[in-house]
Amino acid sequence: MSNLESTREQPLDLSPEIFRKIGYELVDQIAIFLDELSSLPVAPAADPPEIRNRLGNRSMPQNGVDAGQLLTNVVSLLKENSTFNGHPRFLGYITSSASPLGALADMLASAINSNVGAAALAPMATAIEQQTIRWLAELVDFPTEGGGLLVSGGNMANITAFWAARKAKATWDIRRDGVTGMKAEKLVAYTSTSVHTWIDKAADLSGLGLNSIRRIEVNKEGQLVTAALRRQIEADLAAGLTPFLVVGTAGTVELGVIDPLAEISEICGEFDLWFHIDGAYGAVAGILPEYSAALHGLSMADSVAIDPHKWLYAPLEAGALLMRDAGKLIDAFSFHPVYYNFDEESAQGLVNFYEYGPQNSRGFRALKVWLTLQQAGRGGYETMLRDDIAAAKHLYGLAERHPELEACTHHLSITTFRYVPKNMDAANPQNQIYLNNLNSELLSQLNRSGKAFISNAMLHGNFILRACVVNFRTTLKDMEAVAELVVKFGREMDKIMVAQAN
Ligand SMILES: *Cc1c(COP(=O)(O)O)cnc(C)c1O
Repeated sequence: MSNLESTREQPLDLSPEIFRKIGYELVDQIAIFLDELSSLPVAPAADPPEIRNRLGNRSMPQNGVDAGQLLTNVVSLLKENSTFNGHPRFLGYITSSASPLGALADMLASAINSNVGAAALAPMATAIEQQTIRWLAELVDFPTEGGGLLVSGGNMANITAFWAARKAKATWDIRRDGVTGMKAEKLVAYTSTSVHTWIDKAADLSGLGLNSIRRIEVNKEGQLVTAALRRQIEADLAAGLTPFLVVGTAGTVELGVIDPLAEISEICGEFDLWFHIDGAYGAVAGILPEYSAALHGLSMADSVAIDPHKWLYAPLEAGALLMRDAGKLIDAFSFHPVYYNFDEESAQGLVNFYEYGPQNSRGFRALKVWLTLQQAGRGGYETMLRDDIAAAKHLYGLAERHPELEACTHHLSITTFRYVPKNMDAANPQNQIYLNNLNSELLSQLNRSGKAFISNAMLHGNFILRACVVNFRTTLKDMEAVAELVVKFGREMDKIMVAQAN
């Protein structure tokens, strides 16, 4: 113990002088990193086990270490051993370049350290989160009166909506009796076969089980077939089941396809089902006139998931759930323990965000989103989204024109394609296994090279390459480089695989 009378020993606090000194140094290092980013390898050459070994497995130190020293060391540790999704040639999955302002916002948010679980604990941070939610709703043309909350990402936004829908549509007291009570009915949800894997977690966590999810077929364009949806709902009703939810997707994770949202909304109205839209990736495209018709149905949903850490370029983690009626979140998530003294704020119409979702203590993730939205403005987003889409389209065109590339799909800012060796017939079913292996191998080699990072999708059972541009640093030249790299690694792998086969 230290001398507690009027002062304390300080293993953690920093004097203003030291905070300033090591803080400035860190900001300098981050500025250098951002400046150098495009010349660094996209991914480290070492594989994850080797990188884990570099960290070693020493125990936590008994005696504290100088803060400045720790920061200096960790900057090089991270710079040398990370995959950089802000790199102009990072086009894998749906992970965007992050706004540098967001990094500064996170530092400020951590310094203030608001607990955005309750308005009394975080009055301004709560107001900022509410305003952020309102702006996100405006951005995707969703009613702004409802409210919603920020969560860690698309998965949590979708799962939270699933829980709210479950509570809203259950005809018995599902809170008290659960899904197995005497009066429980069998709830069923509907979505397409192209749904993101969050639905598996939602079905499992909610106690409904994986069999409660009906995966409706998609058409040639990859969109949910609404006639099949209607048939399945009618069959389930006839079998005594209780349909409660339909999930449409605005920008599927693999190909970027937008479901026929307005038609799905009509069916939901007809059968009194909750309509949720997973717009984690694609919902924001609605700000562009060229996509506003396809995304018009967003305004008709009961809830929409949208990911600021995807196509709004906020740093991880930031997902958002927009609700037509936030009261449905309170119904699903609010409890009032005696040791909470927050009801006065609720009575004043203030939001206590702990009542809106599964989290209790909550960080101030709204700040980076709120500031980033203002920095770019709606106009800035229109430009960035258009440029991302143009870059993806450019790659599609390159693949169409190159004799050794096959262009597969282009939706929103996702292009899929694959490498096909000269003189090989890509349409011949007998060549598919070879082409799948070849493209899978070349993808690993390409990503390991550090020169670019893309991912894959499955299309009609075939392994194809996938580039998703949610990156304000990516130019048309980068797309040309990616096409060339795929051809280069494709040729090399083809040579090796042919030699192995002989
Ligand atoms: C990315 C994505 C998710 C999951 O979002 P996370 O932020 O990774 O949790 C869900 N649905 C769709 C359509 C997505 O693109």
